[in-house]
Formats: sequence, structure tokens, C-alpha cells
Amino acid sequence: MNVQPMTGVSDRVNEIRALAARIVNQEILPHEPALWITEAKGIFTDADVKESAELRAHIRERVRQAGLWAPHLPAEYGGAGLDFLELAYMFEILAYAVGAAALFGVVAPNSGNESLLALYGTEEQKQRWLVPLAEGRLESGFSMTEPDRPGSDPRSLRTTASRDGDEWVINGHKWFTSNGKRADFFIVMCRTDAGDGNGRMTQFIVPRDTPGVTVVRGIEVWGVESDHCEIIYDDVRVPLANQLGEVGTGHRAAQDRLGTGRVFHCMNSVGQMWRAFDLMVERAATRHVHEGLLETKQLVQAFIADSYLDVQTARLLTIHCAQAIDRGVDARTEISAIKVAVPAAFHRVVDRAIQVWGAAGVSGDLPLAHMYLTARTLRLADGPDEVHRILIAKRVLGQHHRDGAGWDFAR
Ligand SMILES: Cc1cc2nc3c(=O)[nH]c(=O)nc-3n(C[C@H](O)[C@H](O)[C@H](O)COP(=O)(O)OP(=O)(O)OC[C@H]3O[C@@H](n4cnc5c(N)ncnc54)[C@H](O)[C@@H]3O)c2cc1C
Repeated sequence: MNVQPMTGVSDRVNEIRALAARIVNQEILPHEPALWITEAKGIFTDADVKESAELRAHIRERVRQAGLWAPHLPAEYGGAGLDFLELAYMFEILAYAVGAAALFGVVAPNSGNESLLALYGTEEQKQRWLVPLAEGRLESGFSMTEPDRPGSDPRSLRTTASRDGDEWVINGHKWFTSNGKRADFFIVMCRTDAGDGNGRMTQFIVPRDTPGVTVVRGIEVWGVESDHCEIIYDDVRVPLANQLGEVGTGHRAAQDRLGTGRVFHCMNSVGQMWRAFDLMVERAATRHVHEGLLETKQLVQAFIADSYLDVQTARLLTIHCAQAIDRGVDARTEISAIKVAVPAAFHRVVDRAIQVWGAAGVSGDLPLAHMYLTARTLRLADGPDEVHRILIAKRVLGQHHRDGAGWDFAR
């Protein structure tokens, strides 16, 4: 990955990017095919599995030495303590190589839950759940979406938590809880009174082995059984100490998790688009087809030019949004804008890269096929396109009616 110092950012951002890129370029990309062999299957032997695990451990050690382990967490909980912009600029680099983020201690949904615990947890909860999560000794899931209610309107969620003496009793039906098979605990979004609206949602930490928790199945996603699970919570009792944040702060906490999280997701998409773009250029410059290199065909040149526009536009839009958040601006319009624009651009770039690579493009030999499915899924996960487009229009029109002013695109 060609990472050079940037102007207009702090020296620390450039230092972090250089350190991260060195590890990605020297330690991860050359070993990418051998890094994720986790079972002796097909052509892979037990020795391959062992070697792969040693390789991952070696890279994690290099990351720790560089001071970049768990960059999203404060130092007192085992992280590198990077600030929001430093993280955003780092995530595009980690996304360039398959699985690099995990080797830097950033693994969804654990990383989002870690941020929630760091922000809303009591000191006791941090020691009990956050520290082992950050050290990789525990796994977790985030359980919000329900099969019978629209996930795009979280105010409609039906799972309840009722107070009974010194316990909360949780009842509900969730699905698409990612990492559900491996999770040791779930952060579960519950309604804590009978009313509707945002005000009374509260999150609870629910250990997986609590009586009444049933992981029903891993849902098939894109034709393959996945780790996104359907879970029933039936009269699940947890102590009051497992309440995360004040009663009624659940919706706000989820928005915090998703708000800045969307910038990170988008920088993550930008990094993958960057990789897809580089792969497309590399193939166009080397593949002979019909008496010429692909790069000499104007149809392929158009793919490259359009993809350049897509990557650069998505990146600048996301950086603009990140800078607005960093300045303390209410950036809900900008967040919705990137949530719509970036996955769509990601989808187009990967689609073209696959086309240029032909059959290899849809094979497991390249990361493109996986990226393609990811890009499509991102258009509905974490809030579907339509909800964000409606939000953009409402906020622009709201300002127009309130102030009579046009939108300030330079804000
Ligand atoms: C791979 C994957 C992983 C996930 N991981 C998690 C997880 O770990 N934890 C978790 O809690 N959830 C998770 N989800 C769930 C995800 O957040 C929800 O799918 C998403 O919020 C949409 O909710 P829904 O599926 O209920 O769709 P619905 O809310 O039923 O919406 C369906 C469609 O209706 C349309 N729509 C919605 N509102 C409007 C509107 N106002 N106007 C016009 N059209 C509209 C949109 O096209 C939308 O796609 C995951 C989903 C996927 C696919």
C-alpha cells in the first residue's frame, strides 16, 4: 500500500499511518494466503495450521512493539489510546490487507462493545468484561435487531427488561447477533418500561451461560451458515450490576456506537476499495487479451478512471465527516451521507475490479469476492440506505424552513 505523509494532519497521524503501513506491507501482505489457515482441511495440514497461528502471534507482537495494539481503547484498559481522527486515518490502512484489523486487536463486534464498555461501564464492569475482551480472553456480541420488528426503527424493539428485586429479568427474541456462536457475553438492548420511543431503552450485559439464553442457530448469509445468530432470551435473570449505563440511555449509547462507528466502517470500506483499485490497475497493466494489454483498452481505462473518482470521492466525504465530528459539529447529515455514498461506491469499485480479473475475480484466491458481498451487505446493515436518505432530506429541509437559508456545504 502506497502510504506517504499527508499535509493538513498532525505529525502523530502521519507517524501512526507510517507505522501501520510498514506492518501491513512487510508483515501481513506477503503472508496473506497463509495467515488465516485455522483448520487442517483440503490441502492444509496440521503443520500449516500451526505455522499460521505462529505467524499471527508474531505479527501481534510486532503490533504491540509498535504501540498500536487495540488502538481504539484507552491505555489503562490495554489499548493504544488513539483519538478519533488518528483512528479514522489508521483504519483505511488496516482495511487494505485481509484480517489486518484483527491482528491490531480490532475485531467487530468486540471493538464496538469495548468502546461501549469504556464509555458507559462502571469500573467493576470494565475490569470484569472490558479488560479480558481487549486481551482476547473473552468474546462478545451486540444483540439489538429482532426478527419481528424493523431494525431500521430501533424505537420499535420489543425485548423487555423488568426489575425484580435486585435482578433484571429479560425476555425477547433477537437475530443477526454477530459472533453469536463464540460470544461469552452479549450486550442486549431492552425496553425498560411499557412506553414507546427512545427514552426507555437500556443495555444489559448478559453472560451466555445464564439460564434462559438460547442460541437457536447461525443464520445462513449469502448461502453459507454464518456466525450471525438468532437468540432467545427467556426469563433471563441478571444482577443489577449488569445494567450498562443509566436506565434509559440505551438508544443514546447505540447511536454513539453507530455514529462514530460509521466513520470507522466507511474508512474501512475506503481501505478495501483502495486495495480493489490497486488490484484492478495491476491486472490491467499485465494481462494480455486480444493482442494487447488490458490497460490499452478504453473500456478498461474507463473502469480505472471511474473507480479513481469513486475512491477519492468516498474518502474525501468520509474525512470531511470525521473532521466535522472532531470539531464538535452536529454531523448527523454528514454521517448519513457517508453511510449511503461509501458502500455504494465500494460496491461499484469492487464490481469493476472483479470484471477486470475475470474468473479469478470471483475466486477465493483474491479478496474481491468477499469484498463484494460485504459492500452489498453494508447498504442495509447499521441502518439501510433509505433511512439515511430520508434523514438527510429532513435535516436539509428542516434547516431551510427554520432559517430560510441554503445548506452550507463548506461547514
Ligand atoms: C451481516 C449482518 C450482520 C449484522 N449484525 C448485527 C449485530 O451484530 N447486532 C444487531 O443487533 N444487528 C445486526 N444486524 C442487523 C442490521 O443492523 C439490520 O438488518 C438493519 O438495521 C436493518 O434492519 P432490518 O433487517 O430489520 O430491516 P427493516 O427495518 O425491516 O428494513 C427493511 C428495508 O425496508 C426499507 N426501509 C426501512 N425504513 C424505510 C423508510 N423509512 N422508507 C423507505 N424504506 C425503508 C429499507 O430498504 C430496508 O432495507 C446485522 C445484519 C447483517 C446483514
